[in-house]
Amino acid sequence: MALNLFNTVSRSVQTFAPLDPNGRNVGMYCCGPTVYDYAHIGNWRTFVFADLVRRHLEFKGFQVNHVMNITDVEDKIIKRVREQKTTLRGFTGPYETAFLEDLRALGCQEPHQKPRATEYIPQIIALIEKLITRGVAYRAPDGSVYFSIDKYRGCGCQYGQLLKLNFDEMRAGERVKSDEYAKESIADFALWKTRVPEDGEVFWPSPFGEGRPGWHIECSAMSTALLGNTFDLHLGGEDLIFPHHEDEIAQSEGATGQPFVKFWLHGAHLLVEGKKMSKSLGNYFTLRDLQAKGYTGREVRYLLLKAHYRETFNFTMDGLAEAKTALARIDECVAKLRELAGGTAAVPDVELVTAFQTALDEDLNISAAWGAVFEWVRKTNRALADNTLGVAGAASALAGWEKINAVLGIGLAAEAEAPAELQALLVERQLARKNKDFKRSDEIRDQLKAQGWVIEDSPKGQRLKKV
Ligand code: AMP
Ligand code: ZN
Repeated sequence: MALNLFNTVSRSVQTFAPLDPNGRNVGMYCCGPTVYDYAHIGNWRTFVFADLVRRHLEFKGFQVNHVMNITDVEDKIIKRVREQKTTLRGFTGPYETAFLEDLRALGCQEPHQKPRATEYIPQIIALIEKLITRGVAYRAPDGSVYFSIDKYRGCGCQYGQLLKLNFDEMRAGERVKSDEYAKESIADFALWKTRVPEDGEVFWPSPFGEGRPGWHIECSAMSTALLGNTFDLHLGGEDLIFPHHEDEIAQSEGATGQPFVKFWLHGAHLLVEGKKMSKSLGNYFTLRDLQAKGYTGREVRYLLLKAHYRETFNFTMDGLAEAKTALARIDECVAKLRELAGGTAAVPDVELVTAFQTALDEDLNISAAWGAVFEWVRKTNRALADNTLGVAGAASALAGWEKINAVLGIGLAAEAEAPAELQALLVERQLARKNKDFKRSDEIRDQLKAQGWVIEDSPKGQRLKKV
């Protein structure tokens, strides 16, 4: 079945086909976090959306190379490093670690590559040099390097691919130095910012003098370095359409002369009482805030996955409480199926899987997908109550659930159980540790790992978890 996605460039739903002539490999880049604070759940809505896209592509048999950068140098970070009198890495490191912890708690697959901007300075410099050579970037009197929108457009390139811009107001050569700016200011933007005293020790040498990169060039350099000059999918929250993504296109296409990205996907914002959840408005929750109130990452994930990605979604605590109830309904049904199926292997329930896939293939219509899930829960509960399912029916229903749960990623309570021989190894390892036979204990751990299982502590003692 074809996968249809809304492409911001064409402003229409298009059938997705990868650039790979074999139709298998997909390169996907999602703008990652700026590690200057804990991510709030508005940010998480975007990352959970990216995780859904990746999981659904994998479900459909694509081999995805998922890249998510870590923005570890930009204006806001430098300001905080200065205020806190610390070092760049000393400041960003703990937020990066916290981000990855939250990512796991929310059941997101870890991106295959997580480049840090500060580790791509040579590629960034090379890209800027290319832009200078091609005549679309220039040195300003203070030594900073800017992208020239006028020169770029003069080469027949289009600035304003993602949204319509009004160039009548634009004054040639007008410059904007900050990383974030409004649509009203279509102006040349900074690629390399010359070192100023406020930057402290945050600077790198370059052919353009000491300084640091602008935010937009970082993503162009990292994405093309890891996915090639042209790649399949680029994702982010809708606030990144302008200027960030528009500038990424201009920099990348300006340097390579090749199309940058085939499909642009943008997630709508998470609102709180009708307003965008943002740090500047102070109306935000982090995942940690919600965990402190007794909610789990899984419940937050469910809530963030509830609405269609292109619709704004209003966050409420009541909504989170409803998420808890909804998941409990699914868990209860799955637990009963497990008990009845008792480990019997079966082919997945076609009806559930088809309804689910059909919904997600239509621009990730998650509401219809949840509709299919809850209809299945209702029918399954009825069959369980009427005793009409049988062992084979329960096993097939369970297999169907596990298949679609690989996309939803909310399956903590429905996780696969390790086979008996591996459980026996776990018991043997516990015994070996008791006898201080750490060599054997390590051997068993490695053997389990080789088969795709890790040992995890749980309130009921150690257990095996599928990686
Ligand atoms: P940042 O760490 O600020 O660079 O943002 C990381 C991601 O979160 C970006 O893709 C933003 O577009 C996205 N984002 C920021 N605020 C929200 C929000 N309220 N709802 C959804 N996504 C958001
Ligand atoms: Zn980016």
